[in-house]
Amino acid sequence: MNVIVCRARHFTIRRIWHCPTCKTRRRMLFQDEAWYGMTITCCHCGDCWQGGELCPRPTKRGWRKQAAADATAGWIAAGRYDRDAHKAWLAAEMGFTA
Ligand SMILES: [Zn+2]
Repeated sequence: MNVIVCRARHFTIRRIWHCPTCKTRRRMLFQDEAWYGMTITCCHCGDCWQGGELCPRPTKRGWRKQAAADATAGWIAAGRYDRDAHKAWLAAEMGFTA
């Protein structure tokens, strides 16, 4: 049996987290990227944060709806958080394994 390992550049984690924009707990999509750190996107308002800073908001109309839809799709696809999978992904991403 062949196992095809498809490694994404982002490791996505779904969480219920406080959104500073919505000022309440929302579904938040966490995307960990080895060399850039965590990007957090709110599934409700579409705002995102990188390194604790609010990302620049696009000027195009309807971006919030689109960003929120994308985040929601990622959130659903992320499934349950798997700590070991996250550690393995990070190690591979950092080049610790051949
Ligand atoms: Zn929000």
